[in-house]
Amino acid sequence: MSRFLSRRYENLVPYVPGEQPQDGAFIKLNTNESPYPPSPLVLERVRDEAASLRLYPDPDARRLRAKLAAHLGVLPENVLVTNGSDEALAFAFLAFFDRDTPVRFPDITYGFYPVYCNLCGVRADIVPLREDFTVCVDDYVAVGRPVVLANPNAPTGLFLPVSDIERIAASNPDHIVLIDEAYIDFGGESAVPLINKYDNLLIVGTFSKSRSLAGARIGYAAACAPLIQDLDTIRNSFNPYNLSRTALAAGEAALDEQAYYTKNCREIARVRDETAEKLRDLGFIVTDSRANFLFIRHPERSGHDLYAELRARGILVRWFNLPRISDYLRVTVGTAEQMDIFVDTIRAII
Ligand code: PMP
Repeated sequence: MSRFLSRRYENLVPYVPGEQPQDGAFIKLNTNESPYPPSPLVLERVRDEAASLRLYPDPDARRLRAKLAAHLGVLPENVLVTNGSDEALAFAFLAFFDRDTPVRFPDITYGFYPVYCNLCGVRADIVPLREDFTVCVDDYVAVGRPVVLANPNAPTGLFLPVSDIERIAASNPDHIVLIDEAYIDFGGESAVPLINKYDNLLIVGTFSKSRSLAGARIGYAAACAPLIQDLDTIRNSFNPYNLSRTALAAGEAALDEQAYYTKNCREIARVRDETAEKLRDLGFIVTDSRANFLFIRHPERSGHDLYAELRARGILVRWFNLPRISDYLRVTVGTAEQMDIFVDTIRAII
């Protein structure tokens, strides 16, 4: 820390993303990327768009917002696009959460929520998940404070039905209920249709996982128009050109080839469930994931040992050195071939 860092940030502990080795030597199952490349039209449009990089992008991302709104079944005024969904989350914390009112979220969830609390000077009101990592919905009903939930949750993969999200939104009418749907396309049901009914409901999503565009950094928020306007005020007070021309082109093209991604998501869900069965047969405890990853524990092996042994054999998975989950591994679902290698390797290890 330099002597110039603002005292506001002296206790800031930043988020640590998963390892991104640059040599391609690993089977990479550690950051929930898609194992499939972007669709052909994305590659073509990004290449074409490169010729226009001299010019700033459309600061209002009008074409991408219109296509995304149509895909989500809402109006363009109900969506905002951001530099990854992390940016949508950051804008939401800045716009809607105050020092005086703590924000409620589970103890085991996306590790960025406490970091944004810290960055924005907002207190976190952390509630433990049940022993089996399910969310106790009543912990979030009529709590009189903002709520943040990832659905499906990360890193557990467990999913709450939309009826539960509706109960939470309806019972906290004076506070934002933020639902992070980063993993919604792998078998969950989106709560986006509810934004027309609840003016406190804010949904965040991403093109990083189901649309194979983690490297393009495209996320979004969906909510009633006044909430989107507030987020846009923050965006325009921070970085009006928050998506590059090539990112906008990639996002638009991805929405033009939705069928390709729907097919990939179905295959990822199929491989996920098949891999889960094989791991259960090997004695692993496996949560019922609806995401593009599995959350697994072996009763006799420590999480860190398994992580290290997999790494030594060329397979990267995510291990969290955190209370309650330090014996778990989060394993991104790769192709069927990659998961066969993963299962064979872990069988050999145990
Ligand atoms: N939310 C959750 C629950 C995530 O796991 C991630 C991925 N790290 C994100 C949001 C952010 O993804 P991105 O910024 O790539 O859209």
